Amino acid sequence: MAQPRMLILGAPGAGKGTQSAKITDEFDIDHVTTGDALRANKEMDISEMDTEYDTPREYMDQGELVPDEVVNAIVDEALSQADGFVLDGYPRNLEQADELEDMTDLDLALYLDVSEEELVHRLTGRRLDPETGDIYHVEYNPPEDPEVEDRLEQREDDTEETVKERLRVFRENTEPVIDHYEDEGSLERVDGEQAPEDVWEDVKKTIENTD
Ligand code: ADP
Ligand code: ADP
Repeated sequence: MAQPRMLILGAPGAGKGTQSAKITDEFDIDHVTTGDALRANKEMDISEMDTEYDTPREYMDQGELVPDEVVNAIVDEALSQADGFVLDGYPRNLEQADELEDMTDLDLALYLDVSEEELVHRLTGRRLDPETGDIYHVEYNPPEDPEVEDRLEQREDDTEETVKERLRVFRENTEPVIDHYEDEGSLERVDGEQAPEDVWEDVKKTIENTD
C-alpha cells in the first residue's frame, strides 16, 4: 500500500506514538495525533462551545475526554490537508467514529493489543524529549546520549492516578470503537506486547499486505 489512510488504535501506552513515527517515515504520510494537537492548544478558550470546562487542560489533567466538538474540528482540518495519514488517538468513542465516517474512507484500522498491567508500567515510565518529540522509557528505551537524558520530561497526565482513570475511560468509551471496526471487518490486530522492533515488523507487514 503506497500511501495508506489508516487508524492506529490501542489503549494509552500501547505504543501508538512509537509505531506512528516509524509508519510516517516508511510510508511518507502525515501523523495526525489529537493528543499532541490538544497539548499544543491546552489553554484554547472553548467556553463558547457550551462545555463543562473552559479549556482542554481541565479534561486532560483529569484523564477525561475533551468534548467531541473540539476534537472533531481538529481532525477534520488535518485530514483535509493529507493524502495518506496515520490517525493516532482518534476516534475514542462511537460518536467520533461516526463523525470520521463522514470525513474520509479508511484503508485499515490497526489495533495494538497490550495487557493492562504492562500499560501502567509503560505510561508511568514514559519520558519525552521536548526538543525532538522522541518517545523514551526509563527502563525499556532510555536515551544513549546523557545530554538528551538530562532534558527528558514526563507528561503531566502520566501519573499513576491519572493513568488509572485514562484506562477506565478507554475501557468504557474506546473498546466499543475497536469492536465496531472488528464487526465491520476492517480491524487488524497486532501483538503490541513484543519488543518495539518486533511490533514494527508486524505493523509494517500488515500495512504492506493491505490492498
Ligand atoms: P495516550 O498517548 O496516552 O494514548 P493521548 O496523547 O492520545 O494519550 O491523549 C491525551 C489526552 O488528550 C487524553 O487523555 C484526552 O484527555 C485528550 N484526547 C486525545 N485524543 C482525544 C480524543 N480523540 N477525544 C477526546 N479527548 C482526546
Ligand atoms: P501511546 O502513544 O499508545 O500512548 P507510546 O508510543 O507513547 O504509547 O509508548 C508508551 C511508552 O511505552 C513509552 O515510554 C515507550 O517508549 C514505551 N514503549 C512503546 N512501545 C513499546 C514496546 N513494544 N515495548 C516496551 N515499551 C514500549
